[in-house]
Amino acid sequence: MVGLKKEMKECPVCGSEVEADAAYCPECGTDFDSDSDDVDYNY
Ligand SMILES: [Zn+2]
Repeated sequence: MVGLKKEMKECPVCGSEVEADAAYCPECGTDFDSDSDDVDYNY
């Protein structure tokens, strides 16, 4: 299980790289769980 890069995303608030499945930013604590109207996700 080494060498697998996790999917990352950038925190819109502090710009830190966080795991894409993270519920919140570990740096600034922004909650990613709530839906954002600014982002289009294709399910
Ligand atoms: Zn953040």
